Parts: sequence; structure tokens; C-alpha cells
Amino acid sequence: MFPERLTEGYRTFQRGRFAGERSRYEMLAEAGQRPEVMIIGCVDSRVSPEVIFDAAPGELLVVRNVANIVPPYEPDRLSQHGTSAALEFGVQALRVRHIVVLGHAHCGGIRAFADEQEPLSPGDFIGRWMAQIAPAAASLGPRPQGDAADYLRRLEFASVELSLRNLMTFPCIRILVERGKLALHGAYFGIAAGRLLVRDPDTGRFEPLT
Ligand SMILES: [Zn+2]
Repeated sequence: MFPERLTEGYRTFQRGRFAGERSRYEMLAEAGQRPEVMIIGCVDSRVSPEVIFDAAPGELLVVRNVANIVPPYEPDRLSQHGTSAALEFGVQALRVRHIVVLGHAHCGGIRAFADEQEPLSPGDFIGRWMAQIAPAAASLGPRPQGDAADYLRRLEFASVELSLRNLMTFPCIRILVERGKLALHGAYFGIAAGRLLVRDPDTGRFEPLT
């Protein structure tokens, strides 16, 4: 049976949001989407970009993966590149003006990497996926004893940094950034306080959004 929670939620959507925004949906269906912002977020159920940014349909192009990682540009034909395909679509077809890498507190993917957790299955998909952030961990130096939460937080920030650097390895992104037609941003969502930090491009520090 289809989950009851989803059936109820859908009914609420039909009566409420859809009824109120019907013309917007019709316009989007007719004219197509034209989102200006693309977000690379984590699959984490607590960090939903449309909720955090109070977004209407058609406003955000969202790609979510484990730990909001942008892999580097790899034009090989051997791997499946879901995130790279979404980037190509957002940048080349939809011409988004902004890409936001949205990290978050208490990220399970980051913790799995930092704690060298055992694979959840023989495929070890999480382990292999998260191995990509090794350069971010290396940039922090050896893991100190003691405050694990502080280290994980710094690794979450460093991972966003790494994804921003990896975005610039895509030729189409680098060219548009250099021409001032595309801007890259880092952000970080603190779940408990619902607080958003935004990376200052000058200092590299994550500061509360004022
Ligand atoms: Zn996460």
C-alpha cells in the first residue's frame, strides 16, 4: 500500500498549495522551468533546500547526494556521473546564475568517513563515494583527540570548500564564473537552531546570514 503519510500529504497539497498556486504550475508547464539557483544538497531528510529557502515550484534546481559532494570533472566513459549530469543540465541548458553547495551539521556521510565506519553492504557505495573528501580531510591535518563534534564540523566546512574547488574543474562552469555569468557559493545549515551560515568568499569563513 502507498504510505498513508504520503497520501495525506498529497491531499493537503492539492487542497492548499496547489489550489493557491495553480496558475504558477500551469505557467511552468507551459513555458518550462527557468530556475536561477541550483543547489547541491545532502540526501539528509532534515536538510530540505525547498523548505529552508521557502522556495516555490520552479525556483530551485536541486541535486541531492550523500554529503552534498561535487566530484571533480572526469570526462571518462567508465563511471556514471549523476551529479555531473545535473550540473551540465543546470549550467548549460537552464543557465542558472548561482550554484550553492549546501553542507549541514550532523552529516552522516561525513561522520562515516571520519570514523572509518564499516561498509553497510559488500558494495561499500558510501565508503567509495565518501573517499572523495580525502583531500578535504588532508587539508585539516591529523584528527585531534577529544572534541569530535568540532572536528566533524570543520570537516563539513572543508568538504564544502572542496566541492567549490571541484566545481571550478568543469570547463563550462569555470568559463561562466570568469565571465561573471555564474556565481558559486558555500552554505551550511545548523539543524537544531535552523541557522544558515554562508561562506565569505574573501575569508573562506562561514558566517551567519544577516
Ligand atoms: Zn549529510
